[in-house]
Amino acid sequence: MNAPLSPEKLLPADDKTNGWSAILPKRLPRPSVPKSASFDWLVIGAGYAGMSAARRLAILNPSQSIALLEAQQVGEGAHGRNAGFAIDLPHNNDHDPANTEKGHRHIRLSRYGIDCLDDLVSTHAIECQWSRSGRYDCAVSPEISRKLLGATVAELEALGEPYQIFRGEALHERLGTRYYDSAIHTPGTRLLNPAALSRGLADTLPPNVKLFENSPVLELDSNSMVVATLPGEVKVSARKAVLTNNAFISRFGCFKRQLLPFVLFASLSRPLNPDERKHLGGTNDWGITPAHGIAGATLRYTQDYRILFRYGFQFAPSLRCSDSLRERMKRSHEVLFRARFPMLDRVTLDHFWAGYLSLSQNGAPGWGQLSNNVYAAVNCNGVGIAKQTTAGALIAEFACDTGHPLIGDMMALGSPDMLPRRPFLDVGVRAYLAAQKWAGRSEK
Ligand SMILES: Cc1cc2nc3c(=O)[nH]c(=O)nc-3n(C[C@H](O)[C@H](O)[C@H](O)COP(=O)(O)OP(=O)(O)OC[C@H]3O[C@@H](n4cnc5c(N)ncnc54)[C@H](O)[C@@H]3O)c2cc1C
Repeated sequence: MNAPLSPEKLLPADDKTNGWSAILPKRLPRPSVPKSASFDWLVIGAGYAGMSAARRLAILNPSQSIALLEAQQVGEGAHGRNAGFAIDLPHNNDHDPANTEKGHRHIRLSRYGIDCLDDLVSTHAIECQWSRSGRYDCAVSPEISRKLLGATVAELEALGEPYQIFRGEALHERLGTRYYDSAIHTPGTRLLNPAALSRGLADTLPPNVKLFENSPVLELDSNSMVVATLPGEVKVSARKAVLTNNAFISRFGCFKRQLLPFVLFASLSRPLNPDERKHLGGTNDWGITPAHGIAGATLRYTQDYRILFRYGFQFAPSLRCSDSLRERMKRSHEVLFRARFPMLDRVTLDHFWAGYLSLSQNGAPGWGQLSNNVYAAVNCNGVGIAKQTTAGALIAEFACDTGHPLIGDMMALGSPDMLPRRPFLDVGVRAYLAAQKWAGRSEK
């Protein structure tokens, strides 16, 4: 048997289980990159960051050529298999109630990405169930409600952001389920089908961007030109390159010992029939993020009456996950879904999938100039729909030296902290996660 590949050698290998793309019509991928070709710019990885960077480079340089190389098919990486919340407020480890300037900076950056997406969705009529119905931050237990939602309210007050609190019957009337103790609703999040959005973004790239799918970059050399090597000794060269391949950037030796890859799991139900909708009650087109980000579950009730359930968060330094972990998470989804929706006992979770993302210990992105002619916008920190759209557009602005006013905000986020060496890292991360899951066990 071959020795397992180290993460540095890995390419993405997402399977075909993503429910968001399974419910869309079949799509023909764009051709892979030809035998040898030369462009002005290479952008590697066609997620939110890559598509945003390629689009902005094309607009800023209408006479130049941009190749966007995607290892898989658009809509199959993390960009197409996430929970579909484009979040405008500090989230995960962006929170810092004592530092409102930091909070305002995160909001400016996130809202810039959301504004770009709002504009593209409406200009090109992208059908992705785009919704402006905001987000409920929900606590299951009164204790977590007091502790975590209390802190969220204090932060929102300090930032001057609007919110509404819902409890008991008022919450039940909105969500149908009685599982939650309380929620804070904020209006700025957009909800969407991420595979449909990604396809729409790919289909509306400017004419001077060439998207190549099933085109994994194996090696990258940069001297006076950047040369990408793909399978079959295919070489693509360019004057400059932008790396937007998220957790997989370690393949090119960048951000070594700075990024933490995680695997997350999601399920999508079949559409509820009219009787089931009546039994559930409430309204549809809502989204819940958990007050306890690690221990809780993210849910959506979509415009087409499906329920999305996202739960489970595991350290995945190998960027792969075992069948037994998948099976265990799939069973947990069943149990936790039934606990929230006992009235939907016949509704099946038709799709279940895993996806990978990358975090840093201090929440900083992997953003900036790596060498003379190579730039990066990676390490999504779990909020990439909004933030990586921004990071991609701004890395293009930065590489073209436009002096965009938000570049200062982007730089102020810093760079990812150095991490301990493995196996100490693994032990530390696993212990931290276990402690968090225990502290938030009421929120499952
Ligand atoms: C289950 C789940 C739920 C999530 N929920 C949310 C949510 O609700 N809201 C939110 O904002 N974020 C969410 N996220 C995170 C979100 O998906 C990411 O932040 C976002 O996709 C990051 O965008 P990106 O463009 O940086 O990277 P990606 O979307 O990871 O795109 C990188 C692309 O690079 C390609 N690639 C990698 N290596 C190579 C190579 N060598 N050559 C060519 N191409 C390569 C990959 O195939 C991939 O398509 C979730 C993630 C998961 C997995």
